[in-house]
Amino acid sequence: MTADEFRRQGRAAVDWIADYLESCETRPVYPDVAPGDVRAKLPLSAPATGEPFERMLADMDEIVVPGLAHWQSPNWFAFFPANISGPSILGELLSAGLGVQGMIWQTGPAITEIETHVLDWLVEMLALPEAFLSSGRGGGVIQDTASGATLCALLAARERATDFAVNARGVAAAPGPIVAYASEQAHSSLEKSMMIAGLGREHLRCLPTDAAFRLRPDALAAAIAEDRAAGRLPAFVCANLGTTSAGAMDDVAAIGPICRDAGAWLHVDAAMHGTAALCPEFRGMHAGLELADSYCFNPHKWMLTNFDCDCFWVRDRSMLVRTLSVMPEYLKNEATASGQVFDYRDWHVPLGRRFRALKLWFVIRHYGVTGLQQFVRRHVALARGFADRVRDHPAFILTHEPPLNLVCLRHVDGDERTDAILDAINASGSAALTRTVLDGRSVIRVSIGQAHTGPRHVDALWDRLTALA
Ligand code: PLP
Repeated sequence: MTADEFRRQGRAAVDWIADYLESCETRPVYPDVAPGDVRAKLPLSAPATGEPFERMLADMDEIVVPGLAHWQSPNWFAFFPANISGPSILGELLSAGLGVQGMIWQTGPAITEIETHVLDWLVEMLALPEAFLSSGRGGGVIQDTASGATLCALLAARERATDFAVNARGVAAAPGPIVAYASEQAHSSLEKSMMIAGLGREHLRCLPTDAAFRLRPDALAAAIAEDRAAGRLPAFVCANLGTTSAGAMDDVAAIGPICRDAGAWLHVDAAMHGTAALCPEFRGMHAGLELADSYCFNPHKWMLTNFDCDCFWVRDRSMLVRTLSVMPEYLKNEATASGQVFDYRDWHVPLGRRFRALKLWFVIRHYGVTGLQQFVRRHVALARGFADRVRDHPAFILTHEPPLNLVCLRHVDGDERTDAILDAINASGSAALTRTVLDGRSVIRVSIGQAHTGPRHVDALWDRLTALA
């Protein structure tokens, strides 16, 4: 593709994106496709000769869009928001256009330094503990996902508990099996991390929660004591600020001292809800965070930033680097040897890394802190108003007070009715909702956070729910 053709087609592609985003609201949120429908529209073999770009763009309309769930629809209330924005898309585009790799400082000083700087900004924007700032012993890095962040935190915890990498002796260096703890509501990525790390899912304690689905600190203390007495090594605790099913906020202020006394690494996963800390009035969830060893949240969920973008901080970066660093000849360089730079390849699993900070930097600069705060406040107000309606309606039960933007409800007549309502709405294409189970009962999750979701979308959802009630 020549530079001129790229300019022309690039404009067409940007126009296409703008048209698509404008059209999302009028599309059925979930597509009407059966398995194999999309592939059936594709030629069996790759084209022998090149095709014009216009044909590819046309296939976006004919093949791709009809086969998509429209996550950017304002009627998207499923899973989590995954909202995006113009500045973020353009940041992604520029990152692709630069085509640079920021695996070590030397291969892209601006990639590393802008990332470090923006993550320091976020420490201030979210009022996170100062120990996470890069100016001290801590620092932040962009991971692909919260799952990746949890895995890295777990590996660093293993390192701290056993000198796994330093001794190269393996887990056998530990006095007994390493054990991790979280509430039974914690995200499944923790179980997956235990499997990947070779620590065994049987060494993950999924502990009971209270009536608000928060980890019970007494259950944590008891489980740690039991494991210690049995010769096992309590090494890692994952607290959630906003569980996936219920949005529950674990009491970090109560959990932190238990972890400190046990010598266990405390990781705090605030995947979606962490964004709310932009607003001072929602920072109560941060109480006790100064005892956390690591923390993450996903701007790619609720902060207008395209996937993938998970922000991950540690209070002691040396533990992460010790865990994840290897030094082949071809990566040796003066800047690294000087000890004055961050080589982010040592802060996560992959070597290569793209310029993800660009989109985040653009989002923050475009909206400013107050713009982002307004955005969060709008969604929380919508969720609270929606919860009030559920509470007052005789056919629905509000399972618990929504801490922020996630409302959970069920039908008074039981699971079958709840599931039927959810299925009817999803099948109608008018909105997308997700089912979960709380206290053994089917529940409809209403996650309010799409970029363009406003009162009329929430009203329309409520009308549909009540019409089916
Ligand atoms: N943690 C929590 C609490 C979540 O709700 C989710 C996703 O929904 C994740 C982790 C995983 O997020 P990611 O896709 O960034 O790995």
